[in-house]
Amino acid sequence: MSARRTATASVALQHAPGGPFCLETVELGPLAADEILVRTAGVGVCHTDWTAAAGTVPLPTPFVLGHEGAGTVTAVGAQVSTLAVGDQVVLSFDACRSCPQCTAGHPAYCVLSAALNYTGTRPDGTTTISLKGRPVHGSWFGQSSFATHAVASVRNAVKVPPGPDGLPLDILGPLGCGLLTGAGTVFRVLRPSPGQSIVVFGLGTVGLSAVMAAAVAGCDPLVGVDPNPVRRHLAEALGCTHTLDPAASEDIGWSLAEITGLGADFTVDTVGSGTVVRQALEALRTPGSCATLGLQSLENDITIDQGHLLMGRTLTGVIEGDAEPRVLIPHLIELWHQGRFPFDRLVERFPFQRVEDAVDAARSGKVVKPVLVFD
Ligand SMILES: [Zn+2]
Ligand SMILES: [Zn+2]
Repeated sequence: MSARRTATASVALQHAPGGPFCLETVELGPLAADEILVRTAGVGVCHTDWTAAAGTVPLPTPFVLGHEGAGTVTAVGAQVSTLAVGDQVVLSFDACRSCPQCTAGHPAYCVLSAALNYTGTRPDGTTTISLKGRPVHGSWFGQSSFATHAVASVRNAVKVPPGPDGLPLDILGPLGCGLLTGAGTVFRVLRPSPGQSIVVFGLGTVGLSAVMAAAVAGCDPLVGVDPNPVRRHLAEALGCTHTLDPAASEDIGWSLAEITGLGADFTVDTVGSGTVVRQALEALRTPGSCATLGLQSLENDITIDQGHLLMGRTLTGVIEGDAEPRVLIPHLIELWHQGRFPFDRLVERFPFQRVEDAVDAARSGKVVKPVLVFD
Protein backbone atom coordinates (compact mmCIF):
# COMPACT_ATOMS: atom_id res chain seq x y z
CA MET A 1 0.00 0.00 0.00
CA SER A 2 1.04 3.61 -0.43
CA ALA A 3 1.67 5.45 2.85
CA ARG A 4 -1.09 7.94 1.94
CA ARG A 5 -3.77 5.27 1.47
CA THR A 6 -5.62 3.23 4.06
CA ALA A 7 -5.32 -0.54 4.40
CA THR A 8 -7.57 -3.08 6.06
CA ALA A 9 -6.62 -5.50 8.79
CA SER A 10 -8.25 -8.19 10.87
CA VAL A 11 -7.78 -7.33 14.56
CA ALA A 12 -8.74 -8.81 17.94
CA LEU A 13 -10.79 -5.88 19.21
CA GLN A 14 -12.23 -5.38 22.67
CA HIS A 15 -15.34 -3.29 23.05
CA ALA A 16 -15.07 -3.19 26.86
CA PRO A 17 -12.54 -4.16 29.55
CA GLY A 18 -13.02 -7.78 30.53
CA GLY A 19 -15.01 -8.41 27.35
CA PRO A 20 -14.26 -11.00 24.70
CA PHE A 21 -11.79 -10.49 21.85
CA CYS A 22 -13.88 -9.84 18.70
CA LEU A 23 -12.27 -10.47 15.34
CA GLU A 24 -13.15 -7.39 13.28
CA THR A 25 -12.01 -5.93 9.98
CA VAL A 26 -10.76 -2.37 10.51
CA GLU A 27 -9.06 0.38 8.51
CA LEU A 28 -5.44 1.38 9.17
CA GLY A 29 -3.67 4.56 8.11
CA PRO A 30 -2.92 6.73 6.29
CA LEU A 31 0.54 6.54 7.85
CA ALA A 32 2.15 9.50 9.57
CA ALA A 33 5.56 10.53 8.20
CA ASP A 34 7.56 8.40 10.68
CA GLU A 35 5.27 5.37 10.72
CA ILE A 36 5.46 1.97 9.09
CA LEU A 37 2.87 -0.67 8.29
CA VAL A 38 3.86 -4.20 9.31
CA ARG A 39 2.26 -7.46 8.15
CA THR A 40 2.34 -9.44 11.37
CA ALA A 41 3.94 -12.89 11.26
CA GLY A 42 3.37 -13.54 14.96
CA VAL A 43 2.64 -11.75 18.22
CA GLY A 44 3.31 -12.95 21.75
CA VAL A 45 0.75 -12.78 24.54
CA CYS A 46 2.32 -10.90 27.47
CA HIS A 47 1.13 -10.64 31.08
CA THR A 48 0.49 -6.90 30.50
CA ASP A 49 -1.93 -7.73 27.66
CA TRP A 50 -4.19 -9.95 29.66
CA THR A 51 -4.13 -7.80 32.79
CA ALA A 52 -4.99 -4.77 30.60
CA ALA A 53 -7.69 -6.81 28.85
CA ALA A 54 -9.20 -7.51 32.26
CA GLY A 55 -9.32 -3.78 33.02
CA THR A 56 -6.35 -3.22 35.37
CA VAL A 57 -4.93 -0.57 33.01
CA PRO A 58 -7.54 2.12 32.25
CA LEU A 59 -7.87 2.13 28.45
CA PRO A 60 -10.32 4.06 26.26
CA THR A 61 -12.66 1.74 24.36
CA PRO A 62 -12.80 0.11 21.91
CA PHE A 63 -9.14 -0.96 21.92
CA VAL A 64 -6.71 -3.39 20.35
CA LEU A 65 -3.91 -4.91 22.47
CA GLY A 66 -0.80 -6.87 21.50
CA HIS A 67 2.74 -5.60 21.99
CA GLU A 68 5.13 -8.39 21.07
CA GLY A 69 4.74 -8.28 17.30
CA ALA A 70 7.15 -9.36 14.58
CA GLY A 71 6.61 -9.20 10.85
CA THR A 72 7.46 -7.66 7.51
CA VAL A 73 7.28 -3.98 6.57
CA THR A 74 4.73 -3.44 3.77
CA ALA A 75 4.60 0.39 3.65
CA VAL A 76 6.59 3.30 5.07
CA GLY A 77 5.71 6.93 5.86
CA ALA A 78 7.08 9.86 3.87
CA GLN A 79 10.09 10.49 6.09
CA VAL A 80 11.13 6.92 6.87
CA SER A 81 14.68 6.32 5.66
CA THR A 82 16.00 3.64 8.04
CA LEU A 83 13.49 0.94 7.11
CA ALA A 84 12.16 -0.22 3.75
CA VAL A 85 9.36 -2.37 2.40
CA GLY A 86 10.37 -6.02 2.80
CA ASP A 87 12.44 -5.52 5.96
CA GLN A 88 11.73 -7.95 8.80
CA VAL A 89 11.21 -6.23 12.13
CA VAL A 90 10.59 -6.93 15.81
CA LEU A 91 8.27 -4.38 17.44
CA SER A 92 9.20 -3.22 20.94
CA PHE A 93 7.87 -0.56 23.34
CA ASP A 94 7.72 3.04 22.09
CA ALA A 95 9.93 5.90 23.31
CA CYS A 96 10.35 9.46 22.06
CA ARG A 97 14.06 9.03 21.27
CA SER A 98 14.86 12.67 22.13
CA CYS A 99 14.29 13.23 25.89
CA PRO A 100 17.21 13.07 28.37
CA GLN A 101 16.45 9.43 29.33
CA CYS A 102 16.21 8.32 25.69
CA THR A 103 19.39 10.07 24.62
CA ALA A 104 21.22 8.60 27.65
CA GLY A 105 20.31 5.09 26.44
CA HIS A 106 17.38 4.41 28.79
CA PRO A 107 14.31 4.51 26.50
CA ALA A 108 12.26 2.39 28.94
CA TYR A 109 12.27 5.43 31.22
CA CYS A 110 11.32 7.91 28.45
CA VAL A 111 9.50 10.93 29.90
CA LEU A 112 6.75 10.38 27.29
CA SER A 113 6.49 6.63 27.97
CA ALA A 114 2.91 6.68 29.26
CA ALA A 115 1.68 8.94 26.44
CA LEU A 116 3.35 6.81 23.76
CA ASN A 117 2.44 3.35 25.07
CA TYR A 118 -0.80 3.41 27.06
CA THR A 119 -3.19 6.09 25.80
CA GLY A 120 -4.54 4.37 22.68
CA THR A 121 -3.74 7.29 20.39
CA ARG A 122 -0.83 9.03 18.72
CA PRO A 123 0.58 11.97 20.78
CA ASP A 124 -1.61 14.31 18.68
CA GLY A 125 -4.75 12.45 19.79
CA THR A 126 -5.53 10.74 16.47
CA THR A 127 -5.86 6.97 16.20
CA THR A 128 -4.04 4.64 13.81
CA ILE A 129 -7.13 2.39 13.57
CA SER A 130 -10.77 3.05 12.68
CA LEU A 131 -13.89 0.93 12.34
CA LYS A 132 -16.56 2.17 9.93
CA GLY A 133 -15.17 5.69 10.28
CA ARG A 134 -15.09 5.62 14.09
CA PRO A 135 -11.81 5.74 16.02
CA VAL A 136 -10.47 2.52 17.56
CA HIS A 137 -7.78 2.89 20.21
CA GLY A 138 -4.51 1.36 19.08
CA SER A 139 -0.89 2.46 19.55
CA TRP A 140 -0.69 0.03 22.52
CA PHE A 141 3.08 -0.02 23.10
CA GLY A 142 3.27 1.78 19.77
CA GLN A 143 1.84 -1.15 17.80
CA SER A 144 -1.44 -2.89 18.86
CA SER A 145 -0.31 -6.03 17.10
CA PHE A 146 -3.13 -8.46 17.93
CA ALA A 147 -3.77 -7.87 14.24
CA THR A 148 -2.86 -9.13 10.78
CA HIS A 149 -1.29 -5.71 10.16
CA ALA A 150 -0.02 -3.14 12.68
CA VAL A 151 1.02 0.51 12.49
CA ALA A 152 4.31 1.11 14.31
CA SER A 153 7.06 3.69 13.86
CA VAL A 154 10.76 3.93 13.20
CA ARG A 155 11.13 4.57 16.93
CA ASN A 156 10.02 1.12 18.09
CA ALA A 157 10.68 -1.18 15.11
CA VAL A 158 13.98 -3.06 15.28
CA LYS A 159 15.26 -4.54 12.04
CA VAL A 160 16.08 -8.25 12.22
CA PRO A 161 19.76 -8.56 11.30
CA PRO A 162 20.69 -10.93 8.47
CA GLY A 163 21.95 -14.24 9.80
CA PRO A 164 22.03 -17.95 9.12
CA ASP A 165 18.84 -19.55 7.82
CA GLY A 166 16.26 -20.94 10.17
CA LEU A 167 15.30 -17.81 12.06
CA PRO A 168 11.59 -18.21 12.85
CA LEU A 169 10.25 -14.67 12.29
CA ASP A 170 6.82 -15.58 13.67
CA ILE A 171 8.18 -16.22 17.19
CA LEU A 172 10.59 -13.26 17.43
CA GLY A 173 7.99 -10.83 18.81
CA PRO A 174 8.50 -11.71 22.50
CA LEU A 175 12.08 -10.42 22.14
CA GLY A 176 10.42 -6.98 22.13
CA CYS A 177 9.05 -7.23 25.70
CA GLY A 178 9.06 -10.34 27.91
CA LEU A 179 12.41 -11.75 26.83
CA LEU A 180 13.97 -8.28 26.71
CA THR A 181 12.79 -7.66 30.28
CA GLY A 182 14.41 -10.71 31.86
CA ALA A 183 17.59 -10.63 29.80
CA GLY A 184 18.01 -6.85 30.06
CA THR A 185 17.69 -7.00 33.84
CA VAL A 186 20.62 -9.42 34.02
CA PHE A 187 22.82 -7.94 31.29
CA ARG A 188 22.11 -4.22 31.80
CA VAL A 189 21.09 -3.79 35.44
CA LEU A 190 22.62 -6.54 37.62
CA ARG A 191 25.66 -7.30 35.41
CA PRO A 192 26.89 -10.44 37.20
CA SER A 193 30.42 -11.72 36.70
CA PRO A 194 31.14 -15.40 36.01
CA GLY A 195 30.86 -17.45 39.21
CA GLN A 196 28.54 -15.04 41.01
CA SER A 197 25.30 -16.43 42.39
CA ILE A 198 21.77 -15.50 41.35
CA VAL A 199 18.28 -16.60 42.38
CA VAL A 200 15.31 -16.04 40.07
CA PHE A 201 11.84 -16.06 41.68
CA GLY A 202 9.07 -16.98 39.23
CA LEU A 203 9.83 -18.96 36.08
CA GLY A 204 7.51 -17.46 33.47
CA THR A 205 8.83 -15.79 30.32
CA VAL A 206 10.60 -13.01 32.22
CA GLY A 207 12.10 -15.34 34.84
CA LEU A 208 13.23 -17.93 32.29
CA SER A 209 14.82 -15.25 30.10
CA ALA A 210 16.67 -14.03 33.20
CA VAL A 211 17.80 -17.64 33.74
CA MET A 212 19.06 -17.93 30.13
CA ALA A 213 20.90 -14.60 30.42
CA ALA A 214 22.40 -15.57 33.79
CA ALA A 215 23.63 -18.81 32.21
CA VAL A 216 25.25 -16.79 29.39
CA ALA A 217 26.87 -14.58 32.06
CA GLY A 218 28.29 -17.67 33.82
CA CYS A 219 26.32 -17.38 37.08
CA ASP A 220 26.90 -20.28 39.49
CA PRO A 221 24.91 -21.26 41.44
CA LEU A 222 21.93 -20.27 39.30
CA VAL A 223 18.75 -21.01 41.23
CA GLY A 224 15.14 -20.92 39.98
CA VAL A 225 12.14 -20.82 42.34
CA ASP A 226 8.64 -21.70 41.14
CA PRO A 227 5.80 -23.95 42.34
CA ASN A 228 5.21 -25.32 38.81
CA PRO A 229 7.25 -28.53 38.29
CA VAL A 230 7.14 -28.28 34.48
CA ARG A 231 8.69 -24.81 34.64
CA ARG A 232 11.35 -25.91 37.15
CA HIS A 233 12.25 -28.75 34.78
CA LEU A 234 12.47 -26.31 31.85
CA ALA A 235 14.59 -23.92 33.94
CA GLU A 236 17.05 -26.73 34.64
CA ALA A 237 17.29 -27.44 30.91
CA LEU A 238 17.92 -23.72 30.29
CA GLY A 239 20.76 -23.41 32.79
CA CYS A 240 19.59 -23.53 36.40
CA THR A 241 22.02 -25.42 38.61
CA HIS A 242 19.28 -25.79 41.28
CA THR A 243 15.51 -25.30 41.42
CA LEU A 244 13.22 -25.03 44.42
CA ASP A 245 9.49 -25.47 44.97
CA PRO A 246 8.50 -22.72 47.44
CA ALA A 247 5.41 -24.72 48.44
CA ALA A 248 7.48 -27.78 49.38
CA SER A 249 10.13 -25.85 51.27
CA GLU A 250 9.26 -25.16 54.90
CA ASP A 251 11.76 -22.32 55.01
CA ILE A 252 12.76 -21.09 51.56
CA GLY A 253 15.41 -18.82 53.11
CA TRP A 254 17.11 -21.78 54.75
CA SER A 255 16.95 -23.86 51.55
CA LEU A 256 18.51 -21.00 49.57
CA ALA A 257 21.21 -20.46 52.21
CA GLU A 258 22.18 -24.13 51.86
CA ILE A 259 22.80 -23.51 48.15
CA THR A 260 24.28 -20.00 48.20
CA GLY A 261 26.19 -20.07 51.49
CA LEU A 262 26.33 -16.50 52.75
CA GLY A 263 23.49 -15.54 50.42
CA ALA A 264 23.10 -14.73 46.75
CA ASP A 265 24.97 -11.93 44.98
CA PHE A 266 21.83 -11.19 42.97
CA THR A 267 18.13 -11.98 43.08
CA VAL A 268 15.37 -11.30 40.56
CA ASP A 269 11.70 -11.06 41.58
CA THR A 270 9.30 -11.57 38.67
CA VAL A 271 6.22 -12.01 40.87
CA GLY A 272 5.78 -8.67 42.64
CA SER A 273 3.98 -9.88 45.77
CA GLY A 274 5.14 -8.68 49.18
CA THR A 275 6.03 -12.23 50.19
CA VAL A 276 8.25 -12.85 47.18
CA VAL A 277 9.94 -9.42 47.24
CA ARG A 278 10.83 -10.03 50.91
CA GLN A 279 12.11 -13.53 50.13
CA ALA A 280 14.21 -12.14 47.29
CA LEU A 281 15.69 -9.47 49.56
CA GLU A 282 16.33 -11.86 52.45
CA ALA A 283 18.16 -14.26 50.12
CA LEU A 284 20.86 -11.65 49.39
CA ARG A 285 24.36 -11.68 50.83
CA THR A 286 25.94 -8.38 51.79
CA PRO A 287 26.40 -6.53 49.58
CA GLY A 288 23.87 -7.85 47.10
CA SER A 289 21.27 -6.56 44.67
CA CYS A 290 17.65 -7.50 44.09
CA ALA A 291 15.77 -6.41 40.98
CA THR A 292 11.98 -6.42 41.26
CA LEU A 293 10.09 -6.72 37.95
CA GLY A 294 6.75 -8.30 38.76
CA LEU A 295 3.77 -6.06 38.01
CA GLN A 296 0.81 -6.74 40.30
CA SER A 297 -1.07 -3.47 39.88
CA LEU A 298 -0.22 0.18 39.32
CA GLU A 299 -0.15 0.71 43.10
CA ASN A 300 1.34 -2.06 45.20
CA ASP A 301 2.27 -1.24 48.80
CA ILE A 302 4.58 -3.79 50.38
CA THR A 303 6.61 -3.82 53.60
CA ILE A 304 10.31 -4.61 53.72
CA ASP A 305 12.91 -4.65 56.49
CA GLN A 306 14.96 -1.47 56.09
CA GLY A 307 17.49 -2.82 58.60
CA HIS A 308 18.25 -5.68 56.21
CA LEU A 309 18.77 -3.20 53.35
CA LEU A 310 21.19 -1.12 55.44
CA MET A 311 23.79 -3.87 55.24
CA GLY A 312 24.83 -2.81 51.75
CA ARG A 313 21.91 -4.40 49.96
CA THR A 314 20.05 -2.82 47.06
CA LEU A 315 16.45 -3.12 45.87
CA THR A 316 15.78 -1.70 42.43
CA GLY A 317 12.73 -1.71 40.19
CA VAL A 318 13.17 -2.35 36.47
CA ILE A 319 10.89 -1.87 33.47
CA GLU A 320 11.61 -3.53 30.09
CA GLY A 321 15.02 -4.61 31.41
CA ASP A 322 16.16 -0.96 31.11
CA ALA A 323 17.15 -2.19 27.67
CA GLU A 324 17.95 -0.40 24.45
CA PRO A 325 15.91 -2.66 22.10
CA ARG A 326 18.06 -1.67 19.09
CA VAL A 327 21.08 -3.20 20.82
CA LEU A 328 19.67 -6.00 22.94
CA ILE A 329 17.25 -7.57 20.43
CA PRO A 330 19.95 -8.17 17.77
CA HIS A 331 22.24 -9.46 20.55
CA LEU A 332 19.60 -11.95 21.75
CA ILE A 333 19.04 -13.10 18.14
CA GLU A 334 22.79 -13.64 17.81
CA LEU A 335 22.82 -15.65 21.08
CA TRP A 336 19.88 -17.69 19.74
CA HIS A 337 21.90 -18.51 16.61
CA GLN A 338 24.71 -19.68 18.88
CA GLY A 339 22.29 -21.92 20.79
CA ARG A 340 22.81 -19.90 24.00
CA PHE A 341 19.40 -18.23 24.25
CA PRO A 342 16.94 -20.95 23.18
CA PHE A 343 13.78 -18.94 23.82
CA ASP A 344 11.86 -21.01 21.24
CA ARG A 345 11.53 -23.64 24.01
CA LEU A 346 9.16 -21.27 25.86
CA VAL A 347 6.86 -20.76 22.89
CA GLU A 348 3.67 -22.48 21.78
CA ARG A 349 2.02 -21.23 18.58
CA PHE A 350 -1.73 -20.57 18.36
CA PRO A 351 -3.61 -19.58 15.17
CA PHE A 352 -4.75 -15.94 15.46
CA GLN A 353 -8.39 -17.05 15.51
CA ARG A 354 -7.71 -18.80 18.83
CA VAL A 355 -6.71 -15.61 20.66
CA GLU A 356 -9.01 -16.44 23.61
CA ASP A 357 -7.36 -19.86 24.03
CA ALA A 358 -3.91 -18.27 23.87
CA VAL A 359 -4.78 -15.72 26.57
CA ASP A 360 -6.33 -18.46 28.72
CA ALA A 361 -3.17 -20.56 28.31
CA ALA A 362 -1.05 -17.63 29.47
CA ARG A 363 -3.34 -16.75 32.36
CA SER A 364 -3.57 -20.31 33.65
CA GLY A 365 0.16 -20.85 33.29
CA LYS A 366 -0.35 -23.84 30.98
CA VAL A 367 1.88 -22.26 28.33
CA VAL A 368 4.88 -20.06 29.16
CA LYS A 369 4.69 -17.92 26.03
CA PRO A 370 1.74 -18.32 23.68
CA VAL A 371 2.39 -16.69 20.29
CA LEU A 372 -0.44 -15.93 17.88
CA VAL A 373 0.57 -16.75 14.30
CA PHE A 374 -0.98 -15.74 11.00
CA ASP A 375 -1.48 -17.60 7.71
ZN1 LIG B 1 12.13 9.82 25.52
ZN1 LIG C 1 4.95 -7.05 27.76
